[in-house]
Amino acid sequence: MSHLRTHRNSGTIPMASGAAAAALKARAAAWEVPLVETPDALSLFVWGCELRLVPGGDEVRVELTAPEARLIGSLQDSATELFTEAGLEVRWDRVDAGALAPGLSLMRVESVTQRSPGFIRVRLSGPDAGRFGIGSLHFRLLLPPAGREAVWPRVGASGRTEWPRGADALHRPVYTVAGHGDGWLDFDIFRHAGSPTCDWALSGPQGSTVGIIGPGGGWCPDAARLHLFGDETALPAIARMLELAQGEVTAHIRAAYPDLGPLAADPRVTRCDDLLAALARTDLGKGSHVWFAAEAGQAREARQHLIARGIDRKDFLSAAYWG
Ligand SMILES: Cc1cc2nc3c(=O)[nH]c(=O)nc-3n(C[C@H](O)[C@H](O)[C@H](O)COP(=O)(O)OP(=O)(O)OC[C@H]3O[C@@H](n4cnc5c(N)ncnc54)[C@H](O)[C@@H]3O)c2cc1C
Repeated sequence: MSHLRTHRNSGTIPMASGAAAAALKARAAAWEVPLVETPDALSLFVWGCELRLVPGGDEVRVELTAPEARLIGSLQDSATELFTEAGLEVRWDRVDAGALAPGLSLMRVESVTQRSPGFIRVRLSGPDAGRFGIGSLHFRLLLPPAGREAVWPRVGASGRTEWPRGADALHRPVYTVAGHGDGWLDFDIFRHAGSPTCDWALSGPQGSTVGIIGPGGGWCPDAARLHLFGDETALPAIARMLELAQGEVTAHIRAAYPDLGPLAADPRVTRCDDLLAALARTDLGKGSHVWFAAEAGQAREARQHLIARGIDRKDFLSAAYWG
């Protein structure tokens, strides 16, 4: 991994003794990420980055390394937050105070079209579009409250990202990059009742500016036999994974037939009404990996079902996409 560690930042925690180490250990346990302890340092590894504590004299040195500048910013945000929670102050060597939050790109709404009866397609454009849809499938859309001037999250003097609150608080749903090209990306919004995102998309936002933050979330699992299950909200992710999968792949999608679009003609895809029943019927032999994404209760049931079938936790992912 060392060849990737090209971006760095560091700081110090005065008179921290064991408190900083205890806070880092607790965070590693909460995030379920690796922690490596040597006689000289304690390191937490997350997102391909390292957060390292090096004790010395009456202070602790905090060293961040990451493969991308935005990840240094995200790690600085998390580190500041976790040590502040433990009552410790990090004095960073560098803080980009006032800069847009790490990973945030402001994009122009290029077009809004009806992709199918149940989906609205939004195209965003901007010089940062190429950062998205690579390595991670998803991003957070940041929508200011209707009728208000946008207040974007920015890096505060402490190193923490300061998010707008109260009347300026942003709506922050997660979406999937459905397609991307030179300077643009598309995402598909499933139309459902009571959705602020649908209301926004149908309000004529063409030409306006929105924020997207990321990319984040997973990529296509690498497996000899990949079994995908998802509802409408997971349809864009399943479509991407059907393009990306290297091994054998099948998909069960709970969506109306016209919303499947080109997937309706894909022999690997089965439309269904009951994802859990489809999962129960699926033979999960050696080399299988299950990816399941739907409403929270369904995702929970799928997880319980897979554990009851003795499927190892590393061989499946069951994600709550809404609810
Ligand atoms: C990793 C990830 C990727 C995702 N990708 C996509 C994507 O590409 N396209 C997409 O459409 N969605 C996607 N989703 C789901 C999307 O983030 C949620 O549906 C989100 O709630 C949408 O925000 P909203 O503004 O519509 O509604 P919210 O303000 O979040 O919710 C408003 C109300 O709508 C309900 N609700 C939310 N989703 C649904 C639904 N599908 N059916 C019925 N009621 C619902 C909520 O429970 C709530 O009561 C993804 C989610 C995750 C975690």
